Amino acid sequence: MPLRPCWVEVRIQALEDNLRFLAQLATPHAELLAVVKADAYGHGLTICAPAGVRAGVRWLGVTSVEEGVAARAVCADAFILIMSGVSFGQGAALLQNNLTAAVWEPWHCDELEDAARAIGASPRTVPVHLEIETGMSRQGADAGHLSQLLSRFHAESPLKLDGIMTHLFAADEANGMVTHDQLARLAATLEQVKAAGLHAEWLNVGNSAALLSGQAAAIGEMAARHEMRALLRPGLALYGLAPRFDPDFDHDKPATLVEACKRLKPALSWKTKVVSVRSIPAGAAIGYNGTFVATEPMRLALIAAGYADGLDRKLGNHFSLLVRGQRAPLVGRVSMDQAVIDVTEISDVAVGDEVVILGSQGNEMITAFDHAEAAGTIPWDVFTRIGSRVARIAV
Ligand SMILES: *Cc1c(COP(=O)(O)O)cnc(C)c1O
Repeated sequence: MPLRPCWVEVRIQALEDNLRFLAQLATPHAELLAVVKADAYGHGLTICAPAGVRAGVRWLGVTSVEEGVAARAVCADAFILIMSGVSFGQGAALLQNNLTAAVWEPWHCDELEDAARAIGASPRTVPVHLEIETGMSRQGADAGHLSQLLSRFHAESPLKLDGIMTHLFAADEANGMVTHDQLARLAATLEQVKAAGLHAEWLNVGNSAALLSGQAAAIGEMAARHEMRALLRPGLALYGLAPRFDPDFDHDKPATLVEACKRLKPALSWKTKVVSVRSIPAGAAIGYNGTFVATEPMRLALIAAGYADGLDRKLGNHFSLLVRGQRAPLVGRVSMDQAVIDVTEISDVAVGDEVVILGSQGNEMITAFDHAEAAGTIPWDVFTRIGSRVARIAV
């Protein structure tokens, strides 16, 4: 059956090109983990995870065991990192699907050890990445609990310390002081790991901003000093958007960022169609509560996308979409399943015309940054709120 006309197109070639470019940026300092959490930032996990693997990525990052199971179904051989940790009772499923958890709570270790013993796992066969708190106060073991956690990786434990992980939370800030401080804390942790007689293979650090601001070399060197390999975790950049940096970066933009802005290609377009067209006289109200009242005769087009599809309500009366290569303002409130655009100035708009919500048409383009600005949010949020009922189509 043909679908309701509200869909997302994901350009596989753009995804693969972005990943190859980012891998090149990281080389020779670090390898990449492709972040495909939240249904690959709304782009569709089943489309994006295999594309990542085809582009040469060995690691995928998801948020939960359930997302990990979905990733495993389409990527049999990838290393899959559960970045937000395991939940109670999920240890067995994690082991069954050969997933690698980030751990930082003693009970994370209990959960995995119990599940491992239940299946008679040998010592040091369940790889985990120990997350270190380096300043974000979100997840990770703080200095006071580190030795207790390190003691969990004794010779008889089924757990194997495969990675040391942290998250750089301000790599987009111009002066770099926060990141510098975080990396110093991380370096101190690595000394403690060594002093405890332990060794991890992976130093798992940093997001798109860290990679694009040129941190790969510093992280790679830190890893090399401990005979580890650096792993960087870009998300947004692999979907083709360079995070916007602190404006002060403009004076002295890192070469990696300048290059990335040129090379990265947005992979996602979000489209709908005109499903009905009408003319209204001056004085007619449009949409819930008549927040828009026509002051002269108008021609309106109804589209099959509303806030349940992820089209933010804040965009009503404040944003334009593309039809016939021109900008058509959203008039009145966005409804749950539909919205109305003003096509008075655009000739011959008819039922079946394609409408671009995000992406390009003719010479016009609407980016996730445009949506984010209009809705008072960030592109990550724009992408991940595209509704689950919107079909994702690989093109
Ligand atoms: C989401 C996430 C990333 C990716 O961040 P981007 O800014 O999209 O590159 C990296 N690491 C962790 C732990 C994350 O949760």
